[in-house]
Amino acid sequence: MSFRAVSKEALVGSFTLGVVFVAGYFFGKKKSPRMISKSHLGGKTDPLMQYVLNHSMREHPVLTKLRLKTMEDPMNIMMVACEQSQLMANLAKLIQTKKALEIGVYTGYNTLNIALALPDDGVLVACDISETYTNIGKPFWKEAEVDKKIDLRIQPALKTLDELLTAGQAETFDFVFIDADKVNYDNYFERSLQLLRKGGIIAIDNVLWSGKVINPSPDDADTVAIDKLNKKLHKDTRISLSMLTVGDGVTLAIKL
Ligand code: SAM
Ligand code: CA
Repeated sequence: MSFRAVSKEALVGSFTLGVVFVAGYFFGKKKSPRMISKSHLGGKTDPLMQYVLNHSMREHPVLTKLRLKTMEDPMNIMMVACEQSQLMANLAKLIQTKKALEIGVYTGYNTLNIALALPDDGVLVACDISETYTNIGKPFWKEAEVDKKIDLRIQPALKTLDELLTAGQAETFDFVFIDADKVNYDNYFERSLQLLRKGGIIAIDNVLWSGKVINPSPDDADTVAIDKLNKKLHKDTRISLSMLTVGDGVTLAIKL
């Protein structure tokens, strides 16, 4: 691949940044390169992130309540970053989503955001295996009066996707958010692509996996699976794509 269109200054800048990063990595703290910080975790104390949040967040009051409730859960690291979720909802609106799919719900912060973005007759099929997590979110979906739009299916997501395909729902979904177990990401992507209409969007979360994708350890199945899918999507002619650095990295795949 050619990078000749990139300016000399940009190349020098990138090279310098690369040297600084490598030197910092080898001579500084030998931690995994955590470059991404979620707004509701460490990133909140970053002044620039704070500026971003202060100048862009328009969180529905019930979303705020659910976010604060989720912060009480020991697994809250799993929650999507609120600014990323707002982006997902805006994208869903942009393409006039009526039928959406979420693979991996947790407490349903993003589920609620997408449901709020749907028209009254819209539907969001929400897949998770945990009633414990999803029960945290359900009262908030009801409070925001979008519970009727959410079709929650508690069973392995692959089973739900196969059932949707068997029920003849291929090419009927507008928007998909993939955010469940990472080893199944490729399986989720392939089934979602079948379920998606042309021009629909699949958003794949955690594609940077805290920076571990740069140098995946062969015995780290999650990182290997994400890196493998990232490489596959880069060459996939069935989609156009963008890999965004928001949150922990999200790839947008648009079905051609
Ligand atoms: N999208 C959520 C949000 O916006 O906050 C976060 C999802 S969390 C990272 C991953 C979720 O995937 C967990 O709730 C977990 O129970 C669920 N999960 C794990 N394996 C699954 C599977 N095989 N099928 C469906 N859900 C699964
Ligand atoms: Ca995630």
